[in-house]
Amino acid sequence: MKKPAEISRNQEVVLEEIAPFEVALFVKREDELHPHVSGNKYRKLKYNLLEARDKGHETLLTFGGAYSNHIAALAYAGKMHGLRTIGIIRGEELQGREDLIRSNPTLSFAREQGMRLEFISRDLYRNKAEPEFEGLLREKFGDVYFVPEGGTNELAVEGCREILTDEDREFDHICVPVGTGGTISGLILSAGPHQTVLGFPSLKADFLEGEISKYAIPGPNWSLIKEYHFGGYAKVNEKLISFINRFYRSTTIPLDPVYTGKMMYGIVDLIKKNHFAKNSRILAIHTGGLQGIDGMNRKLALKKMPLICT
Ligand SMILES: *Cc1c(COP(=O)(O)O)cnc(C)c1O
Repeated sequence: MKKPAEISRNQEVVLEEIAPFEVALFVKREDELHPHVSGNKYRKLKYNLLEARDKGHETLLTFGGAYSNHIAALAYAGKMHGLRTIGIIRGEELQGREDLIRSNPTLSFAREQGMRLEFISRDLYRNKAEPEFEGLLREKFGDVYFVPEGGTNELAVEGCREILTDEDREFDHICVPVGTGGTISGLILSAGPHQTVLGFPSLKADFLEGEISKYAIPGPNWSLIKEYHFGGYAKVNEKLISFINRFYRSTTIPLDPVYTGKMMYGIVDLIKKNHFAKNSRILAIHTGGLQGIDGMNRKLALKKMPLICT
């Protein structure tokens, strides 16, 4: 296995509620890799940034929702590398609405980094990967380097192969949240034959196995656990929020409500249901995403729901 250039620490999780089940649970703190290009987005952008520079591009163009971790990360990473950035954002209702943009922590952060924001309808957004749409974007913005939604492509998967280190071979199970499937693909490709990789999708999606199979061979060493999406992407309920807050108080590890919170809820639930054999060693990848907590808390406050502690 390649020696990763950037290594994050593994922190043991000590939680009363799982103590009787005699498994070891650690969190790989990829959220600490970088304050703004956090977690898996750092891994996914690394080789894309090098490629863009090698090919002589001056501008990165990408796509995302209004609270996207990927948008925030790419805006900052682009600035660091001296590249211009354009974010094509889902939701034309935001076009020209300075009030809404300013009150959105992700979009205002991205713009502070110099990202140009363009808002498009959900219909158009759905076709964003079509060659005709890419053609239109090239006409409008010139010779940009395209980074797909969520940042997933071959080079992103290459970067995610650097998450696990040789020391991590002592773990039996590697757990990771799944959005577009790029991160889990890198883990599957770099895990040892004695390890299983368990993905926790944060959305209802039937297409994920297919996406992951573009990069990693379907095989016995990985599976998706689909019971912990909490109703869909960016959907939360009070049970999830209170779990995230309890977990933070007991372990000092902050979790985000879209990805890592759902994964960790699932892991703890599975431990309590005896899914893992006694003495199993479990490593959960903290993929970051903490920038999204502010935006989620603003939505929760409007609904008079409990907030996520930070
Ligand atoms: C983007 C993101 C994911 C999803 O990663 P994929 O490679 O798209 O599956 C998981 N966790 C966090 C915190 C993210 O920001």
